Amino acid sequence: MEKNVFIAAGSNQGDRELNLLRAVAEIGKLPGTRLTSLSSFYETEPVGPVVQGDFFNAVFRLETEISPAQLLAELQKIETDVFRRQRTEQWGPRPMDLDILFYGCLTMNEPDLVIPHPRLHERRFVLVPLSEIAPDFVHPLFGKTVSELLAALPDGERVMRI
Ligand code: AMP
Repeated sequence: MEKNVFIAAGSNQGDRELNLLRAVAEIGKLPGTRLTSLSSFYETEPVGPVVQGDFFNAVFRLETEISPAQLLAELQKIETDVFRRQRTEQWGPRPMDLDILFYGCLTMNEPDLVIPHPRLHERRFVLVPLSEIAPDFVHPLFGKTVSELLAALPDGERVMRI
């Protein structure tokens, strides 16, 4: 049983708030898994090269018995089966994007799964909700807490609690 699994969810297509609530419900149904914290929802400016609408983002904490690889497969199944996400443009708009941020203090670097998520420390839209529910969690590679990572970020895109 791993108790410190963190998932980031983001949506900028369809009813964004309803999409986040649906993601919470679907993740809560995964076998051997219990949702233990939920951040507020935030409206955030998109990051990256594609012009697209603002996102709603949130972070969830889980305890789970399923492995990182199985968890990724389950999250991708939710993205495609529940949200009908089509994997076209890599950075483009999507009804739901689910990323594994941390799986306890585990680190792994496989072609299809990198943990901790390799860009989480650069993303205000991840660190702001994460710092709400786990400010003192220590990044296993950088040895810094989530609050410290957030404090070190330069001013950037807008992240507004809704
Ligand atoms: P995206 O288009 O942002 O959903 O990227 C999904 C791709 O990122 C998938 O092919 C995953 O295999 C890969 N990936 C690598 N590390 C992670 C992670 N920690 N969480 C989710 N997806 C990951």
